[in-house]
Order: sequence, then C-alpha cells, then structure tokens
Amino acid sequence: MDSQAISLVRSSFKAIAAVPDGPQTLSGSFYALLFARYPETRDFFPAAMDVQRDRLISAVQYVIDRLEQSGQILTYLAQLGRDHRKYGVQDAHYVAVGNSLIAAVEQFPSTEPWTDELEQAWRDVLSVIAATMMDAANAESGPPAWGATVIEHLPVRKDISVVRLRLDEPMSYNPGQYVSVQVPSRPRMWRYLSPANPPNDEGIIEFHIRRVSGGWVSPAIVTQTQVGERWVVGSPLGDLGVRFENGRDALMIGSGTGIAPLRAQILDMARRPQNLRVHLFFAGRYPCDLYDLGTLWALAEQNPWLTVVPVTEEDEDPWWYTGPSSAALPGMHRRLTGKVGQVVADFGTWSERDIQLVGSEAMINTTKFRLQAAGTPPENIRHDPSY
Ligand SMILES: Cc1cc2nc3c(=O)[nH]c(=O)nc-3n(C[C@H](O)[C@H](O)[C@H](O)COP(=O)(O)OP(=O)(O)OC[C@H]3O[C@@H](n4cnc5c(N)ncnc54)[C@H](O)[C@@H]3O)c2cc1C
Repeated sequence: MDSQAISLVRSSFKAIAAVPDGPQTLSGSFYALLFARYPETRDFFPAAMDVQRDRLISAVQYVIDRLEQSGQILTYLAQLGRDHRKYGVQDAHYVAVGNSLIAAVEQFPSTEPWTDELEQAWRDVLSVIAATMMDAANAESGPPAWGATVIEHLPVRKDISVVRLRLDEPMSYNPGQYVSVQVPSRPRMWRYLSPANPPNDEGIIEFHIRRVSGGWVSPAIVTQTQVGERWVVGSPLGDLGVRFENGRDALMIGSGTGIAPLRAQILDMARRPQNLRVHLFFAGRYPCDLYDLGTLWALAEQNPWLTVVPVTEEDEDPWWYTGPSSAALPGMHRRLTGKVGQVVADFGTWSERDIQLVGSEAMINTTKFRLQAAGTPPENIRHDPSY
C-alpha cells in the first residue's frame, strides 16, 4: 500500500478518535448511511446494533494500525474475507461498505479538512482491503460455514461452560486460531470463540465460554445450551500457533478462557514425537479461575517439554465461590501471586522465546508493557484481537 495514503488515512482516523465519542459517532453514521443507501445489507446484521458498532471501529482500528505490515494484514484480511462468506456477502456489498464508510468520514465534523487527496487516500486503502477480502472469498472452495450439533455441555463453574460439538464435516484449522460462532437463541449475533482442541477427523470441536455480565451471547450459551441444538461456525481466523519452522521455544501466557487456543496447541504438540520447549503461564484473578489446571498439569506430567505455572492476583478464592477448593495439585509448580505480566517479566526478558498472549485487552496491554520494559523485543510477542 502507498505510504502517503496510509499516513493520510491514519491521521484522519486519529483525528476522529481524538473527538469524544468520535468513533461511535462515525460508526453510527456509517451504518445509517449503509442501511439507507443499500437497504438489502440490513439483513446481515442483528436487530441490536450496539456491539456491532464497537466491532466496526475495533476492526478498522486494527487494520489501520497494521497497514505497513503488509504480509500480516493481508493474511488477516484474506481470512476475514473467507469468514464473511457465512453472511452471503457478494462483491457489490464491499463497494457499498466502502462508499458508506467514505461518506461517513467525509460528513464527520473533524478538524481535518476533507480534500480530494484525503478522499483518494481512503479510496485507495479501502479498495486494497476490499480486493483482498473478495479475492480470498472467491478463491475459497470450502463451505462458507459449518453446521454443528452440541454433543456435550459441561458447566465447569457457574460462569464458565465447556461446550463440545460435532461439526457436520471436519474443519481444517491451525491450533491457536479462532472462529466466529452463531447460537440458535441469538441469531445473527456472531461471537468469536477459540477451539480448545486441535482439528480432528471426527469434527469434534470444544469451546470454553465465560459468561460476561450484561452480554448478549455468552450468558445465553452458559445458561441455555442444550445437547442436540444446532450452532453455526465460521471459517478459522488468526495467526497464533507454535512456529516450528524457526525452532524457537515458546512462552505462552493465557488468562481465564484465554487458555483455550494455547491448550489446543499443546494438545496438538503432544501428538508429535519431538517438540520445542513450552513454558505456559495460566493466569486468573482467583485460584478458582484456573478451571482447566488439572488437564494442563496432566499434560505437563506426561510431556517433559511442557512447564505449566499457575499465577493468580489473589491468594484465596472469593467468598462467593462455592466449588471445590483449588488447592495445588501434587508435584505441580507452586502457584505464583501477582499480575501475570509482572510475574513473567520478573523471570527475565525471554528474548530467545516466541511469545503468545491470550486474554483481555487489559491483560494483553499490561503484559506487553511489562515484558518490553524488561527488555523483551516487541517483535517476539504475538496476540490476536483481545477478548
Ligand atoms: C479472538 C477472540 C477469541 C475469543 N475467544 C473466546 C473464547 O474462547 N471464550 C470466551 O468465553 N470468549 C472468547 N472471546 C470473547 C467473545 O467473543 C465475546 O466477546 C464474549 O463472550 C462476550 O460476548 P457477549 O455477547 O456475551 O457480550 P457482548 O454483548 O458482546 O458485550 C456486552 C458488554 O460486555 C462488554 N464485554 C464484552 N466482552 C467482555 C469481556 N471479556 N470482559 C468484560 N466485558 C466484556 C462489552 O464491551 C459490552 O459492553 C473471544 C474474543 C476474541 C476477539
């Protein structure tokens, strides 16, 4: 992409972000324009648009931040294009979205004057984005989405469920990738979930879901999922995964259900005869947040290349937790106390390791900050969009 166009688009978006509620205003007028000019696109979206508006801004921000990293961003856009086939999106819809976004930016009461040059820059950047997504979508011959039947629902805590499904046909994904999921009680409200197991010929896929208070979808999954119900699962996204090709050992840091994509990688590695070393920090606020520690510890006992270290911010479970005590398992590494970023950085720079972070935005940002402050090269650290 042209660097002049990138810098114009970036400063235009930065000016919008600097206005209080600017991104939300932009997103609101984008959808208003899109639905007014291209009413057929309304059917792609849920009735309640609040979360959708935030998602648009996060996606635009994510892409704009990475425009120079052409390899990484083109891969991401191609994955997004393949995933968008689940909506039945056609090439004309990309044009509709591009035109509406440009019109929304033009109408935005920004300090940046709207010039022909700025309009052309937005058009150039958006046309590369749309072309990459369309080309990938049109080149894909696999299904646009997978139907799946719930075969097991295990409530592991009041607010965390493990749901296992059988896909109608097996999906090929890299352990560490994530997928979008639609459940029957929340039509068109797609949410990202990370498979906690590697792909397999039986098409069994396992998700770990934490209920977010006030959320639309996660409370419905945790409280209402029934064996036999039908979900829809989109194409795989993301580029987490162990990089066997560079031969560097791995450092994995996951908090809460962020352990899922790391667990999928570890289970996959356990099938290999030889492995790189993996140091996994499993973090939570309370000891009871480490809901999957038993499985991880069993894997560490059988696989000498794996070290599992539990980390929690508090030493005791909260008063409202009434489940089994989360005492240390025999032989396991002792649980460390503190914010995971600080705990990991206290060990050193980990500069010889490939690092993957999975968890909330706050966890990812503070952990990156702590590691970099300790001297870890930023290019060693990878993460997907945060939870
Ligand atoms: C790449 C990726 C992979 C993911 N994988 C998993 C997974 O394996 N398991 C899993 O449980 N979740 C996962 N998530 C999060 C999941 O996609 C949903 O965002 C989450 O379940 C909330 O959805 P909801 O519909 O209940 O809440 P929404 O209706 O989307 O949100 C309601 C409100 O809650 C806030 N909110 C949303 N998420 C959180 C949060 N995590 N903590 C606090 N407040 C929040 C929103 O800002 C909003 O104000 C993943 C997210 C991403 C980006």
